[in-house]
Amino acid sequence: MIVILKENPNRDQLESLIHWLQDKGVTVHSTVGSHKTILGLVGDTSSLDIGLISALDIVENVKRVQEPYKNANRKFHPEDTVIDLGTTTIGGGSLTIMAGPCSVESEQQVVAIAKAVKASGATMLRGGAFKPRTSPYSFQGMGAEGLRLLSIAKKETGLPIVTEIMEESQLPLFDDVDVIQVGARNMQNFNLLKTLGAQNKPVMIKRGMSSTYEEWLMSAEYVMAGGNEQVILCERGVRTFETYTRNTLDLAAIPVLRKLTHLPIIIDPSHATGKADLVAPLAVAAVAGGADGLLIEVHNDPPRALCDGAQSLRPEAFDELAGKLYKMHDFMKTL
Ligand code: PEP
Ligand code: MN
Repeated sequence: MIVILKENPNRDQLESLIHWLQDKGVTVHSTVGSHKTILGLVGDTSSLDIGLISALDIVENVKRVQEPYKNANRKFHPEDTVIDLGTTTIGGGSLTIMAGPCSVESEQQVVAIAKAVKASGATMLRGGAFKPRTSPYSFQGMGAEGLRLLSIAKKETGLPIVTEIMEESQLPLFDDVDVIQVGARNMQNFNLLKTLGAQNKPVMIKRGMSSTYEEWLMSAEYVMAGGNEQVILCERGVRTFETYTRNTLDLAAIPVLRKLTHLPIIIDPSHATGKADLVAPLAVAAVAGGADGLLIEVHNDPPRALCDGAQSLRPEAFDELAGKLYKMHDFMKTL
């Protein structure tokens, strides 16, 4: 971190700033020029509050030269993180396809969809039991019963499960869940992230709808700082001025995150677009762009779905898409 001081800083204030920084454990190198004095801070600056330092009378500007996230940073962990779920792995060159309904609606529905997506090549079953809905009058999910039905579908197909948690108190219900999803609306629910950092199941963090890459990586950092290194990032579209699609899919997230972090990157074209006919082209583009996997909503009867029918693929459409995704993944290895 670099602190640029105003001209002729008050000596006492400068000394007390330097002592305060040294007390925080950082080494301070001061460079005194004819006009400006610059402090170079070396060491662990992650706990320093830039806003607080910038607000001091003698300070003109403060610049971070190092990212505030450490555990998630590729600089300190060059190898890709690979998450091993027993029957499948996420990251490190494999293609993960998470598919299933937005919400679990009945045993018959979730088991039928699970069997269909498995036959088409999905590697994981998704399905919401606890649903974060914009309206309190919309279907809120089946809750604990939904998780029980997901377990049945897992037993029937062998597919590992990814499903969303909305609050800490739900964790004891997640015993049979393989990957715990944190939804876009909870990306900065720091208490929830801390709770998930203190347990050992993999956690998939969806990007908040107006969150920067750094804020998103800091959410991953919350989980990792608690000791749980198994974190997956999922881009699901961000909010822009465009209203034609539900959100705007930020495919630049793939190469940007690939550079900044070693964590696996999943793309969700279903929530990003809100429209079933846009899912396939963006899913193929995501694989071409180097994503580690996809999250795709599939429903056996989209017009009657209790949630997100408009963006859900029918099993036949998913089957056709999954074939293309594996072909694109193989093709990318030949380039
Ligand atoms: C979901 O995956 O079911 C979901 C609610 O997504 P998001 O948090 O991205 O809106
Ligand atoms: Mn959904």
